[in-house]
Amino acid sequence: MTKLTSSVNGHPRAASEPIWEYAPAPEARNIVKIQPQYGLFINGQFVEPQSGCYFPTLSPSSEERLSEVAWAGAEDVNSAVQAARNAYESVWRKMPGKERAKYLFRIARLLQERSREFAVLESLDGGKPIRESRDVDIPLAAAHFFYYAGWADKLEYAFQGRRPEPLGVAGQIIPWNFPLLMASWKIAPALACGNTVVLKPAETTPLTALLLCEIFQQADLPPGVVNMITGDGETGAHLVNHPDVDKIAFTGSTEVGKRIQRSIAGSRKKLTLELGGKAANVIFEDAALDQAVEGIVNGIYFNQGHVCCAGSRLLVEESVYEVVKRKLKRRIELLRVGDPLDKNTDIGAINSKAQWEKIVALTQTGVEEGATLHQSSCVLPERGYWFRPTFFTEVAVSHTIAREEIFGPVLAVLSFRTPEEAAQLANNTRYGLSAGVWTEKGSKYLAFASRLKAGVVWCNTYNKFDPASPFGGYKESGFGREGGVHGLSAYTRVG
Ligand code: NAP
Ligand code: MG
Repeated sequence: MTKLTSSVNGHPRAASEPIWEYAPAPEARNIVKIQPQYGLFINGQFVEPQSGCYFPTLSPSSEERLSEVAWAGAEDVNSAVQAARNAYESVWRKMPGKERAKYLFRIARLLQERSREFAVLESLDGGKPIRESRDVDIPLAAAHFFYYAGWADKLEYAFQGRRPEPLGVAGQIIPWNFPLLMASWKIAPALACGNTVVLKPAETTPLTALLLCEIFQQADLPPGVVNMITGDGETGAHLVNHPDVDKIAFTGSTEVGKRIQRSIAGSRKKLTLELGGKAANVIFEDAALDQAVEGIVNGIYFNQGHVCCAGSRLLVEESVYEVVKRKLKRRIELLRVGDPLDKNTDIGAINSKAQWEKIVALTQTGVEEGATLHQSSCVLPERGYWFRPTFFTEVAVSHTIAREEIFGPVLAVLSFRTPEEAAQLANNTRYGLSAGVWTEKGSKYLAFASRLKAGVVWCNTYNKFDPASPFGGYKESGFGREGGVHGLSAYTRVG
């Protein structure tokens, strides 16, 4: 039921600004059965950890303890790597590509069949709105398995007559912002190319990766082809340093990425790193401004700003700066912050207390350094970790909020006068993962985009992904590409 009211999120608004208030529309959570305890997934089975240790995983929107999950120590990591090595030597590397493809297609179809379960679990464990997990994360995860299934028996065409060989055992480490999607980005190309996998999900969001293991069982994936070791940074470090791992694929912070690069230097291990970002969205005066503001909002408030390619800096041409600021201020007031399982929610919970504290501290720094804070006045739920959609104006390029990745719903707005100045500001960062350009003129866009040092440049849109399109960074955003035909190179040795 909907009704016309004069309040939004409990806040009064002017009579001239009526707004449709939505009745609560929560997705049923009993569609997914969460076990009270999960073991490690090694050699096709859930097993108790040799470490004997478990850790809890919480729902960040309610601080409810959802389950407890095994912590993998050095011995557990060793068992997982051994299982992956055995599966590689005895089954997977020898299997014809067209047979491997059948497993990947099967996994993709099962993911689609059970998509509701995955979407609810992702939103419960990680805090993101169900609208995103349902419409973005899960369909894209299935799409990656479909896409790479298609490559498994055509690898020689991807490498133009040369003979691609798998690398062996891939150790994969992922963050908490897109748990199932990151797992799929990494597992699908690795398996398509004939490698086996040991994957470590992030400590705060292990549940969808563990549900994915049920799908591997359902799909009859040979034991040991994918192994899942839950744990923390120490578990990740054991995997990185294991001598029988041939390849490390890491997505996470630049700091940990650098540490991994140092620790495997001089070894035979191949490495791809997908790290942080501080992307600029650039609005020229000829852009369709309402559409641009909608795209900016999607770029920074999508997934609570927990997106490596979030458009966390906004550069606006001076002539339209005031009007964009006004539109942005009005728009953030209308964003609905709350229950991730409600289908009307725009912004869910911050993933963990630690991340919430980081966002609070960086926002405080913005105020202390002299920028002007604008925040939505919405009412936040009492329990859980929440942060209002926020932006700063009067930002200087030297400000911390203009340089450091905040990884939260916080935008820094600056202005520019010429395209030269805009390009210089956009590139003035140690990162280079993505950027956005908003203009009505195709020639302007093409000329401007080619000056940006960013792996992805979106025009008149933002945060659009497709498995056929490669993704990766420049500078301290990492190296190597995931997705598309480029993503195959990360998992093959070409003779
Ligand atoms: P993080 O601390 O680097 O963690 C990433 C993963 O690495 C987690 O699974 C983490 O375990 C593990 N880890 C931590 N220390 C480790 C070590 N010494 N050796 C091996 N593994 C270790 O990053 P985060 O804070 O979770 O994620 C946010 C960051 O990821 C942001 O900077 C963001 O930009 C970046 N990111 C980049 C992309 C991209 O595609 N470029 C995508 C998503 C996120 P725990 O579970 O214990 O944390
Ligand atoms: Mg959790």
